[in-house]
This record gives sequence, C-alpha cells and structure tokens, in this order.
Amino acid sequence: MKQITPNAIIGVFGSGQLGRMFAIEARKMGYRVHTFSPESDTPTGQVADFETCADYEDLSEVEKFAKAVDVVTFEFENVPFETVERAAQSIEVFPRGEVLHIAQHRLREKTFLAQNGFPVTAFRHIKTLEELRNAAAEIGVPAILKTAGFGYDGKGQAKIKSIADCETAFAQIEANEAVLEAFVDYQKEISVVAARDFQGNFAHYGVIENAHENHILDVSFAPAFVSEKIRSEAIEITRGILETLSVVGLMTVEFFLTNTGKLLVNELAPRPHNSGHLTIDACVCSQFEQQLRAVCGLPLGSTEYLKPSAMANLLGDLWGNGEPDFAAALENPNVKLHIYGKQEARRARKMGHLTALAETSEEAVKIVEQARRNLTADERR
Ligand code: AMP
Repeated sequence: MKQITPNAIIGVFGSGQLGRMFAIEARKMGYRVHTFSPESDTPTGQVADFETCADYEDLSEVEKFAKAVDVVTFEFENVPFETVERAAQSIEVFPRGEVLHIAQHRLREKTFLAQNGFPVTAFRHIKTLEELRNAAAEIGVPAILKTAGFGYDGKGQAKIKSIADCETAFAQIEANEAVLEAFVDYQKEISVVAARDFQGNFAHYGVIENAHENHILDVSFAPAFVSEKIRSEAIEITRGILETLSVVGLMTVEFFLTNTGKLLVNELAPRPHNSGHLTIDACVCSQFEQQLRAVCGLPLGSTEYLKPSAMANLLGDLWGNGEPDFAAALENPNVKLHIYGKQEARRARKMGHLTALAETSEEAVKIVEQARRNLTADERR
C-alpha cells in the first residue's frame, strides 16, 4: 500500500457527525476531505473541502468521486455494498467492502462471528412467521427480533416476551429477513474501539463502558469498571476479529458482559464509534486520527489516556425549550463541548456531546452528567 501524505484528498462515504470529526482531524494534518452523501449542508460537508451530493445508487457519480480522491473510507456503515465495490474499481477503500458487507447485516455478522468461534448469543435466521414461532420455542423467550439489515440505535427491533407476541413482532419490524436473538441478561455493555494498519499492527483504546437510554448511547466512560481478566479477554476477542477480517482502519466491537461474567459480542462497527468520542479529548491520538493514519498507511498513534474520561451525548430533546445554556454546561473548565452543526434538533437526534476529564472515571461521569443537566435551566442544581 502506498502512503498517502498531507494535501492528498480523502474521500468519505457519509456526511454525519463521525465524518465531521474525522474531517476536522484530517484537516489538522493537512489533508483535504471530499464527502459523498445524498444530503447537503451536512455535519461533514460543512467542514469538508469538497462535497458530492448524490444518491449512493448513482454509480456514475460514485465513479467520478472515486477518481477525484486518493483513498476512500466511510463514516456511515449502511452505504450499499455495490457503491463501495464501484469505488474500489478506481481507488482503495478502507475498511474493505467485504468488511462492510458483513458488518452491515446482522445475520452475516452473527454467522461470521459464530463460525469463527467468537462468543455470541443464540440466534436464528427468520423469513416467515412460522420460522419465528419455531425459533422462539427453540431458543426460548424473552428474545429480540431484529431486522437483518440497516438497523441502528434499536430501530427495527421488537421484544418477544412470549410465543403469543410473535405475530405482532413480525408485523412490527416490516422486514422480509430478520434475526431472532436470545435475550441477554447483562450487567453492563462495554466496547473496544480498535484500529489495524495494513501491516497488521493493532491498537486499542482499552475497555469503554456504555450506558444506553431508549436503545441510544447515553454516557460512555473509560476506563470501564471491569476486572483485568474481562479487560484482556475483550481486547483479545477484538484483536482476533480485526485480524480475521483483515481490517485496515477502525473497528469497534460492542459487547454484553452477562450476569454470569461472560462476554458476548453484540455488534461490529467498521468505522469510528460513538463510545470512542471521548478519545478526542482524553487520548494522545483520537479514534478519528487513528482512522486517518490507518487508511493513509501511516504509523498508528498512541492510544494512551491523558486522564480518565466520560462522554455524554446531547440529543435533540435538550433543544425542546430553545437553545440550551452552553455557558452553564462549560462552567467546569474540564468539560469540553462538541456540536455537530445539524440544522434541526429533532427528538432522539444526536446533536453533539460533552466530554469531561477527571482523576477517576466515576468523577468524570459525575462532572459530565452535571454539565449536561446545566444545559437546561430548569434542571440546574
Ligand atoms: P443493537 O442495535 O443491536 O446494538 O441494540 C441496541 C440495544 O438494545 C443494545 O445496546 C442493548 O441495550 C439492547 N439489546 C440488543 N440486543 C439485545 C439482546 N440480545 N439482549 C438484551 N438486550 C439487547
């Protein structure tokens, strides 16, 4: 792989906040950024040098884009496989299309993991209501029915508490292909954000602990409260997955830590990850800079944490009574504000995040949660 050096143009499929934070890092290092997505005035487009506004299915635009850049990566994992394949005919795409193909489809992802000996909860492929009823009887209830493709943040999911729920759940997810997963009784959710370069070097940000609200990430912190044994197991599973897939770029592995102390892989994300946003302020080299280094063939940077840290997502709901009180959130000088430039603050939409650094992750969580409460006047102290 040839090294791609500053001033080259990095192509990015997708135009959300992940692309924006990537583009900011890339521009810091003197690269130019070209984003491709169907929307305009996007979080990424606002900070990119070039913006193609076209459908992912518009393969002639995809080809033009690929010919105008020096390498392609992505920030949105639901880019159609054919789009990535077409781009790859003109220029290198990292992570490879095959990695995306597996990670964007729950059934392929779970099958890949199970076949390669990585731990996952019991699951079944579902195409009909009858298959669903049989599968629910086999793996037991409660269980969760999920669309096979294009789901995120709990969208396209239905919980099945008894066999009688199958019919409603099947109608609810509106997909012709689904996966039924045994419900996991977990004590916590954790993630390992990792990178791999084309020579096979591996870097990771340790174990990050994640708390969700309504299926959406709410707060993340690092280091996580897990034993040394769990920490090293999670890292070794992550290393194994990135090696098996020959990932060049970033990949995050999301895990459940069960009530009986077992790790199960929930999902793979072949891109920067929401739980890794704290690495911007907390680490020597952020997940976004790491993505850039990996796809440009540069040495990976240090993942060392300067201090324990916590991140709180800011959802559109916080704008319900007008502009939040940003100054109040920043009263503590160890709190950092990130806003993504989205035009409309819809409910449950990720508008930005706050990060806090402290002497312990517990303290960092307290600070970041207080800062978030301060955003809305009625919640203040
Ligand atoms: P996903 O979109 O698959 O990451 O699911 C979103 C959230 O739903 C997860 O972060 C969990 O909180 C919950 N969830 C998903 N799958 C399961 C499962 N098999 N058992 C228990 N909770 C789950």
